[in-house]
Order: sequence, then structure tokens, then C-alpha cells
Amino acid sequence: MTIPQGLARLELLNAAIEDTAHSVLITDADLDAGPHIVYVNRGFEQMTGYRRDEVLGRTPRILQGPKTSRPVLDDLRVTLERGEGFDAETINYRKDGEPYSVRWHISPVRARGEHESITHFVSVQRDVTEDRRREEQLRLLSAALEASGDPVMITDPGGVIVFANTAFLDLSGFDADSVIGATPALFKSDEHDDDYFAAMWQQLRQGETFRGEFVNRRPDGAKLHLEQTITPIRDDCGEITHFVAFGKDVTERVRMEDEVRRLAETDWLTGLANRLTLGNRLEAELDRCDRYQRPMAVIMFDIDHFKSVNDEHGHDAGDVVLKAVARTVGEQLREQDTLGRWGGEEFLIVLPETDGEGAAAAAEKLRRSIAEMEVPDAPAVTASFGVTERQPNDTPRAITRRVDQAMYQAKEGGRDRVVLL
Ligand code: GH3
Ligand code: MG
Ligand code: MG
Repeated sequence: MTIPQGLARLELLNAAIEDTAHSVLITDADLDAGPHIVYVNRGFEQMTGYRRDEVLGRTPRILQGPKTSRPVLDDLRVTLERGEGFDAETINYRKDGEPYSVRWHISPVRARGEHESITHFVSVQRDVTEDRRREEQLRLLSAALEASGDPVMITDPGGVIVFANTAFLDLSGFDADSVIGATPALFKSDEHDDDYFAAMWQQLRQGETFRGEFVNRRPDGAKLHLEQTITPIRDDCGEITHFVAFGKDVTERVRMEDEVRRLAETDWLTGLANRLTLGNRLEAELDRCDRYQRPMAVIMFDIDHFKSVNDEHGHDAGDVVLKAVARTVGEQLREQDTLGRWGGEEFLIVLPETDGEGAAAAAEKLRRSIAEMEVPDAPAVTASFGVTERQPNDTPRAITRRVDQAMYQAKEGGRDRVVLL
């Protein structure tokens, strides 16, 4: 290898500057009358649209226009006068008037010799219009995501969160520092099993959009219901680079649906299951017991002489008694038993895994607890109980008729008693 010397070296430097992709401009150091352009390379011609002979001897101010930053120019002048290098960005104009964003690196060139005085300035410039345009587009997109008001989250292909808009952060209850870099497991509630997420990931990795309702857990323990559409984003080669989740907060809708369901299923006065729910429960339980040959029993009870409670103490007192009976009985049942209000002052209990004898014993305990019940501002009451065990192929109608008959017999037999039929 030979290091070029002398003229060869000069020619090399000239060719190198000429051929570099950057735009290079050299001026003299006459900051008062000039500076004057003494050299531009091909990159400069391409960037500005000026031919070399059109700019030599002129000032670089020909490139400036209304959008060129005044403070940057002032700063430039001060810096150059101090003999320092300058690095900045502004807008310049092509010969055809088209503006472009330019990044400058301007350095003073000093004469080699005794004085080391500045003789020229060399400016290396790069057109950054495309970079700025891309940044502007990103800024616009991110502003649009913010403005939508709906939660948006973006993850990388491994599920690591790289972006979450303000709406998402607000709803999640976490701050940006906790969310960015974490995975959505951060929000996991106990509402989904692993299969749900496995199915989601499988679909997403195949490049398909996944739509689903997610129940997320907030740091305060509250549940957030999000309806989300998750879409894979691909690069030019078709590789998945991100997943974008657009969400909608449906917590309030879910809460209202739950409330409507609760109202439809429960009795307004006692809060117990209503007749419709009891019927459904009875049907499901009879099916199950038939299939697995399991025992099951039903208890029906009715408050004795309840009409006189209303007549003598008022309807409100009657309501208080009904609620007290519901509470007293409910407290003594097992988790799997269903107590409901069958009508007026009549209640029904479904007891899975219980035979007639067992249910009769339970009924006897309940009968006694009702009789012993003390309710402020209301009279003592008793109730009559019918009990029956499931027969093969019983229907809800057949079993409730039988238990009603048993209860009727308890009434006939003198009330405040249990009859097993
Ligand atoms: P029996 O011992 O034969 O059961 O006599 P009873 O008086 O309890 O029977 P009856 O069926 O004649 O009367 C039931 C009463 O229950 C009539 C009705 O006004 C009252 N009742 C039904 N639903 C409610 C309710 O929600 N609140 C109140 N306070 N009373 C109710
Ligand atoms: Mg009654
Ligand atoms: Mg009745």
C-alpha cells in the first residue's frame, strides 16, 4: 500500500469530497461582506438544484428563506465569529423554491502557518427532510392514538409492551414506567384460564386478528373489562414486528348486564333466588342426579297464618318477617343448597346429595329456628314444611307437586311441623 503524497494526495482529497454523499460547501472567512462560496461538491448541486457556476462567489444566504430559523442564523454568526464549529438544523430552499430540512456541521478552516488564522469555513450538510417527515408522521399517529380516547397498546412480537396511550394507562391503573417493558401478564386476572391466552397467541402468531373480551386486574384489585381487537403488524418482508391492541372499556356495560341478570334472577324483597331461577336450578339438578344416580331432596315451607301478621302488624312488619325468615334459613344451609322464594310467604330449597331422611332432619332444624326467631317490632311466627326425595325420572313439576302435597299435609296436621312424603 502506498500513501499518496503531494499532488496525488490533493487529487484524492478532491475526488473524495466531490464523491461523498453529503453536500459540502466551502466559503471564505469574510463574515462582513460575505462569506463567499468558493467551493461546492456534487452533493450540494443535487441537494439544492443549483449548478456550481451559479453559486461560486455568492453568499450561502441565497439558500435562506422565510422559514429559515432567524435564531439559528444569529447563533451561527456569533459562533463563527468566535472561531468555533457549529452544528444545527434549519430549513433552506432549493433553487426551485422547494424548502428542505438541513443539518449543518460547519467548521472553521485554519491556515497552516504562524498565525493559524481562519481562512475558510467548511460546511457539511445533510438533507433530513425525510427523517423529519417520518417523525412528523409518527407524532401525528401517536397524537391520533391519544385523541381517540380508547385504550391502545402495542407490543413487540414477544409480547413486551412498547407503547400504551394515556387512555390505556388510566384504565390499567399502572404508570407508564411499570407498563412499558412489561408484558400484559401484568394485568392478568383470574377470569381467564391458560387456554384462553394460548388460543390467542396461536391465532396472532399465525398472523390473524384476535378479538375478545379481556378482564384485567387493576393494582387496586378492581376488574377492568376490555373488548380488544389485536392485530399483527408486519414489516416489508412479511415478518411480524408488533401487535397492536385497540380496546374499548366495557366495564360499565358488563356491570349493568350483571345487574340486570341479578335482578332477573333474584327476588327483590329477600334477595333470594326467584321462582324462575329455582325452576332452572331444579331442572339442572334433576338432570344431573338422574345421570349420575345421585340422591337429591326438596323442601318447601310456608309461614303459618301469615295473613294475620299483615292484618295485625301491618304489611311492612310482614315484609320484615319474610326477610328475617330468608336470612335465618339461608344462614343454616350448605353452599350447594339453593334457597329461593317460591311465592308470597312460600319458600323452596333444593338440596343436592341429600336423601329424604337427611332433608327431613334439616327441615326440622329450620322449623325450630324459625319458631325461635325473634324479630324486633314483629310477632313470632312458625312455618309448615314439606319434604320429598327425588324419584327416578322426576320432572320439576312432579317433584314440586309432591313437596307441595307434603306441605299441605303439614298444614292439615296442625302446622309448625315437617312432613316427609
Ligand atoms: P296458612 O297458615 O294456611 O299458610 O295461612 P296464611 O295466612 O299464611 O295463608 P294465606 O295464603 O291465606 O295468606 C298468605 C298471605 O301472605 C297473604 C298475603 O297478603 C301475604 N303475603 C304474600 N306476599 C307478601 C309479601 O311480600 N309481603 C307481605 N307483607 N305479605 C305477603
Ligand atoms: Mg301461609
Ligand atoms: Mg301461602
